[in-house]
Amino acid sequence: MRIVITGAAGFLGSHLSRYFIKKRHSVIAIDNLITGSVNNLKDLFKSEKFEFINYNVVNYLHVPGRVDAVLHFASPASPMDYLKFPIPTLKVGALGTHRALGLAKAKKAIFMLASTSEVYGDPLINPQNEKYWGNVNPVGPRGVYDEAKRFAEAMTMAYHRYHKMPVRIARIFNTYGPNMRLQDGRAVPNFMVQSLTEKPLTVYGDGKQTRSLCYVSDLIEGIYNLLMSNINYPVNIGNPEEITLIELAKKIKKLTRSKSKIVFKPLPADDPKVRRPDISIATKKLKWKPKISLEDGLKKTIPYFKNNLKKDKSI
Ligand code: UDP
Repeated sequence: MRIVITGAAGFLGSHLSRYFIKKRHSVIAIDNLITGSVNNLKDLFKSEKFEFINYNVVNYLHVPGRVDAVLHFASPASPMDYLKFPIPTLKVGALGTHRALGLAKAKKAIFMLASTSEVYGDPLINPQNEKYWGNVNPVGPRGVYDEAKRFAEAMTMAYHRYHKMPVRIARIFNTYGPNMRLQDGRAVPNFMVQSLTEKPLTVYGDGKQTRSLCYVSDLIEGIYNLLMSNINYPVNIGNPEEITLIELAKKIKKLTRSKSKIVFKPLPADDPKVRRPDISIATKKLKWKPKISLEDGLKKTIPYFKNNLKKDKSI
């Protein structure tokens, strides 16, 4: 296949690009590097099947030649970035999705949207299944991401229904692993960097809120299975192993053998209290479930943060 991946220089985009190149597909990687980095792709430039274009997909998208699939993964994805880039977040989720759908339509390609557990907002049911409509504050600081992704899902389904296009919607839950930025601001990178530099671990709120974290290689396999399926409606992809944030902080501190203290900071606005995917559809229809436990995934992730901390003298 010849695949266009938007957001290819980001955390998930770079893993996806590598996965498809390894499977001998061709990848046209697009990213405007607002939050991504070409460093995440550096081993791929030597492949003749890999091409990188520095471009903002909010603008008209022209890709010469055949395209079999368009994977729209471009977006800031850390709550810290929604505050820093609120309008680009809205634009890439809304206008960027429209451009990416237009490209897929012109090429008669499959379209895949990287959607998110944030479409469920601060959920009133736990775990969340795909039938749940969510509890989102449209005007809060996270609304720029949540509402753009909800719009993106609506747009994707409209293209499916009206233009009869094959579409895939992956509702991606919290994911972690190599290629996350050291200063990404999300819980795993923060706790890793804080533990490894012996600085206090910053737990927001009382730390009783929960998340369910998926190791990146599991997630990428789920995404691949979904792309290869014929499911034209949203599917949760994530790991249902749920943990409180305080337990996560303690776990990372222990695994890194850190002597850091744990300190409590104010809870950001609209921070979801619980989050856990119901993955019955993925398990049944995609024959997929995560294989890597939280403990093993964190152990695999520590060396990446250690190496990159050595290189980054600013931290
Ligand atoms: N969090 C925390 N300390 C940090 C960063 C995040 O306690 O240094 C909390 C945050 O308030 C949220 C959870 O960790 O409850 C997960 O946050 P993250 O930014 O990783 O992603 P989210 O799931 O909120 O999109």
